[in-house]
Amino acid sequence: MAKRDYYDVLGVPKNASEEDIKKAYRKLAMKFHPDRNQGEGAKQAEEKFKEGKEAYEMLSDAQKRAAYDQYGHAGVDPNMGGGRGGGPEGFGGFAEAFGDIFGDIFGGGAAGARRGGGGQQVFRGSDLSYAMEITLEEAAHGKETQIRIPSWETCGTCNGSGAKPGTSPKTCGTCNGSGNVHLRQGFFSIQQTCPHCRGSGRIIPEPCTTCSGAGRIKRQKTLEVKIPAGINEGMRIRSAGNGEPGTNGGPAGDLYIEIRIKAHEIFERDGDDLHCTVPIGMTTAALGGSIEVPTLGAKAEIELPEGTQHGKTFRLRGKGIKGLRSSYPGDLYCHITVETPVKLTEPQRKLLKELDESFRRAGERHSPNAKSWTDRVKDIFK
Ligand SMILES: [Zn+2]
Ligand SMILES: [Zn+2]
Repeated sequence: MAKRDYYDVLGVPKNASEEDIKKAYRKLAMKFHPDRNQGEGAKQAEEKFKEGKEAYEMLSDAQKRAAYDQYGHAGVDPNMGGGRGGGPEGFGGFAEAFGDIFGDIFGGGAAGARRGGGGQQVFRGSDLSYAMEITLEEAAHGKETQIRIPSWETCGTCNGSGAKPGTSPKTCGTCNGSGNVHLRQGFFSIQQTCPHCRGSGRIIPEPCTTCSGAGRIKRQKTLEVKIPAGINEGMRIRSAGNGEPGTNGGPAGDLYIEIRIKAHEIFERDGDDLHCTVPIGMTTAALGGSIEVPTLGAKAEIELPEGTQHGKTFRLRGKGIKGLRSSYPGDLYCHITVETPVKLTEPQRKLLKELDESFRRAGERHSPNAKSWTDRVKDIFK
């Protein structure tokens, strides 16, 4: 009789959590436990109980469950393969019976390689990464530029074979040209890339001297890069197919250009917003007036009210950066710092002293912060 699917036995979906499996088994065990099923139907209940127990034992063990998910009952059935009945090559009946499946799984996606037409293993080339430093202005407005990146071309001396002209590559003796060797690991026979020929299936007895047997030569090429406006620190631009070439005709990897933004002398970026510090003189702060502030585009003006305090922030809407995925540009925040005058001349010192006396005569009403501060101090020490 065909064995029932373990998930069906427990009545749980294939993606059931460990907790769900435990719950389902507890329920089933309660129902069919031999102590609770005497007399008529006892035999059937016992079978159900055993079936459920086996299903639970397999699915509650992560390793066994993974094997079952991939290979079905054969993957976890101790009567097949396993430590017993290994053939002359050390494979059990299991490995032989499922050799094709292994070929698909281990030679395929899992290993990042696939079989080429000639039976050799085909590998995708590695991805390359390139760090590009740009200014904040370039990040805000975008930029078209060129970079030099490595590229590979087929070696003209050996026409890509990697063998010295007049000689030819030989079939690898370790893997007989398949590019793979079989390793045994517990239950499974695992197919691995041949360590001798590294999956190419062939070895080159006399390498080409131009390319040292690689079959290709590294060169440089110029790549046009378009940096989109609004790009931010750490973002990557992908240039498909500009990585290292694949092996045995495999596809090339990709090139990733990673953006670094140089520190700006005036602005600090926070997402789409910009921040800058604007120092103003003591008298400008007191009298108010219009001041010019820098932005990443045209200059802008801020109208300072009379009595602007140190630390006051003015927001200029839309004067930030329009991010890559934003519909509107961010804002520019101007943080005001009031500067104390230094290196006074005698007349200036005299004027300031007169001003100071005038303030003293008038009391605290000209210094709102100092007044509230004095009040708080009085509260604390009264
Ligand atoms: Zn060559
Ligand atoms: Zn080999």
